[in-house]
Amino acid sequence: MSDLGDLYQNMILDHNKSPRNRRAINDPDHCAEGYNALCGDRVTVYIDVDGDVIKDVSFEGSGCAISTASASLMTETLKGKTLDEAKEIFQSFHHLITEGPVETNDASGLGKLVVFSGVCRYPARVKCATLVWHTVNAALDNNTKKISTE
Ligand code: ZN
Repeated sequence: MSDLGDLYQNMILDHNKSPRNRRAINDPDHCAEGYNALCGDRVTVYIDVDGDVIKDVSFEGSGCAISTASASLMTETLKGKTLDEAKEIFQSFHHLITEGPVETNDASGLGKLVVFSGVCRYPARVKCATLVWHTVNAALDNNTKKISTE
């Protein structure tokens, strides 16, 4: 189990060092900003959709390793998913982070996001891991472009 822990930690460190899709999207279909006052993490999420499929998703921002890695892995996970799938993944991820790992069958669709399963042991880090997902949710809930959470 400690090997698995190391593997997860390495993946978080890797995504923090080399975040995927850390860029802005010009004229995105959906956009929202998130701020985690507890840690100081800031993130802006950009989403382009084609029908109900997420065509492109990216983020900008600055924060701790957990929040940056979470944003990076979010973009890898959601690209190509439908909006309904995205909402389901958010629910599963939120459950994983706040309640801990469930049966592996129930974690289907989470993919690499299971690397954050250890975060539930650190309540102060939960908001770091979920910030970008709350921001995605806010972005998708608004049909108007460039809505800020502030
Ligand atoms: Zn943080």
